[in-house]
Parts: sequence; C-alpha cells; structure tokens
Amino acid sequence: MQCISCGKKLTEKDKICPKCGKKQPLAENENITRFPLLKSLSPIFLLIGLVLVPLGLTGIAFLIFISIQEKISVLRFIIGLVNILFVTALPFILAYIFKQIK
Ligand SMILES: [Zn+2]
Repeated sequence: MQCISCGKKLTEKDKICPKCGKKQPLAENENITRFPLLKSLSPIFLLIGLVLVPLGLTGIAFLIFISIQEKISVLRFIIGLVNILFVTALPFILAYIFKQIK
C-alpha cells in the first residue's frame, strides 16, 4: 500500500500518511469499482443480448429462406450468417467486458 498523495510506503494500519499527512482511503474501498456507471451497463447489454437472440434466430431462418428462394451465393450466405451471429453475440461480449471493469 502506498500513499495516494506522495507515494510513501504505508502499512495497512496507516489511515493518515506519516510523511505528508494525506488521509488514505480505507482498504475495503479497493474492492469498490472505480467506474460504477460503466459496470452497471453490463446487465443492460445482457438484456439487449437476450432480446437480440430471437431476432438473430429469426434472421438466420429468414436468410436460409431467402437463400433457397433466390439462390444467393454461398459467400453472401456466409457473410449474412456471420453478420447476424456477430450482432447477436456483441451485447454478450460487451456485457462480459463491462462486468470485468474495476
Ligand atoms: Zn504521503
């Protein structure tokens, strides 16, 4: 543990820095997230992801339907599929990333 002001090494018991007199944050505060707003976005992304899953499945079904009807190329089919999967998975990825924020 170091002084937040001058960087002097402190013991866990030092609530005030003996060198510069700066009041130190409590040790348990270290577990509190520094970006609570960003971290709180995680469940929102999760919710968006859950909403997008049925839409994604519908999109894939639609893509398969179109590819049968219109005989689109395999490449276009794959690009469409990857796009749908990416858009569906993105909120889950963001939710995971934002959950990791400390
Ligand atoms: Zn200090």
